[in-house]
Amino acid sequence: MADRRVWFTVNAEHDTQPMRVYFRSVLHHYMKILDRAAAGDTSVAIVGGMHGDEPAGWRIVNQLADELPAYNADSDAGRIRLIIANEPAISAETRYTETDLNRAFPGDTESDAYEDRLAVELAESVAGADAVLAIHTSHSAPPPFAIYSDLTTSVRRTVAGMPVDYVLDASELRGTTFDSTVPHTVSIEVGRQGSEEAVDFGYKAVRAFLRAHGALTDQPPTFSETTIVKGLEEVPKGGGDPQVNYANFEEIPTGAVFASDDVYTHRVEESGLVPVLASEEGYENLFGLYGRITETLEPPADSPAVIDD
Ligand SMILES: [Zn+2]
Repeated sequence: MADRRVWFTVNAEHDTQPMRVYFRSVLHHYMKILDRAAAGDTSVAIVGGMHGDEPAGWRIVNQLADELPAYNADSDAGRIRLIIANEPAISAETRYTETDLNRAFPGDTESDAYEDRLAVELAESVAGADAVLAIHTSHSAPPPFAIYSDLTTSVRRTVAGMPVDYVLDASELRGTTFDSTVPHTVSIEVGRQGSEEAVDFGYKAVRAFLRAHGALTDQPPTFSETTIVKGLEEVPKGGGDPQVNYANFEEIPTGAVFASDDVYTHRVEESGLVPVLASEEGYENLFGLYGRITETLEPPADSPAVIDD
């Protein structure tokens, strides 16, 4: 499956019925799926390359594919499904080809936009998994953090099992992301886009994720408390000279200006707000998000080892 990847130019021709059918029949060849054996009977999935201009995810997936043992579909063993999601966007070194994949869920098989159709395929490819992790990077500053929309037991285990101090509860934000539509899914922001640090940290975090779910037994899993930040709203950017005055997860004092440009001055009028994904140049229309620290996520009750660090 992985070797049969062909880049078709469909243009206007795909309005004709035969071309549409043909195009759909080869759709899954744009997504690379590599199955590897898990240590226990668990079934987990790791997704890299959701965005084509974030190399850390697919580099980590490829590294794991080289290291993990082969999967035998006839055995009762568990499965680690490794996915490189948007290969055309990776080839083009762009975030997406037609629409943002991580804003396209649950997807639409009838859509003209490639990523709308890919979203359906990607969701189906991880359906039934006990835990799913999607790797992302950003233009924002450290620290790395996790993102969830629905705090299932599996999600709690994933977040507490990875070496992140913060997790964004995105349940009040957009409902069209991977983690907001596919059960037991967590996204992780592993660092700056294109940096080696992001690859190194992400690799460690992904192995911790596998240990937390019993899929990797080279070391015992470690669990720790994680600060939950509820995502409240996006902070728009206008134009001109952008300036961001507060770092991610740093509390913005009441009355202070979080960010400004020639169009906006974002003065914070309530206490307890922190920036998430804050950046001056990273996003065309956003300075980032406002969040609020709400509570601490505790490791799952049946965690074999709880280590606070
Ligand atoms: Zn991304």
